[in-house]
Amino acid sequence: MIPVKATVLVVEDDPQIRNFMLFALKKEGFKTLMAGNAQGALSQIVSEAIDIVLLDLGLPDYDGMDVIKKVREWSDIPIIVVSARDQDKEKAAALDAGADDYITKPFSATELMARIRVALRHLYKQSVRTVQTVFRVGGLSIDLDKRLVYLDDQELHVTPMEYALLALFFKNMGKVLTSNMIIKEIWGAGYGSDTQALRALMAGLRRKIEKNPGKPRYIMTEIGVGYRLVDE
Ligand code: CA
Repeated sequence: MIPVKATVLVVEDDPQIRNFMLFALKKEGFKTLMAGNAQGALSQIVSEAIDIVLLDLGLPDYDGMDVIKKVREWSDIPIIVVSARDQDKEKAAALDAGADDYITKPFSATELMARIRVALRHLYKQSVRTVQTVFRVGGLSIDLDKRLVYLDDQELHVTPMEYALLALFFKNMGKVLTSNMIIKEIWGAGYGSDTQALRALMAGLRRKIEKNPGKPRYIMTEIGVGYRLVDE
């Protein structure tokens, strides 16, 4: 399954937070590397065999956003943004620039590991080209071959747009998708970033899949950023 001895690069200038992450990672059996600034991070990403990068956005030399953009010129390595800045705009911008996920400080070791597991699972699936066609979370499942959705083992009628949205979420289970990403996938690149239609589509879908659409159990709202299908 997921390579146990994955190597994680921790890019963080705060020694306390860095040590916390390194300790948590080593405890779980990960190999670790670290960098305290953007230049150190970039040179290690070029020269070392790294499986995943944990990247602080506020670095002393360059902004973490610049690191994401640089790395994405030539590499698809998973990048999880670790940020104290809880401004939603920056999270969404980091994801749109190519980061895979984010975690907001302060966070627990459990949260950190959950994010890493999701990122590594997606990486692993890509590397072995697994063609998974049936996905399930709780009582909700989708069969991409038959184009069918089931809720509590009953076939659920969804519109083509709702189906496309659900399929996108299941292919990215556990990962946050920005509104921009979703709009681009569902309506196409020319649609712009008007989130009105997406909100309406999401509300309709939630009425079908959620017992209490106001307190969703499957598709979570990441306020100001986008949405995430829970990962179990
Ligand atoms: Ca920092």
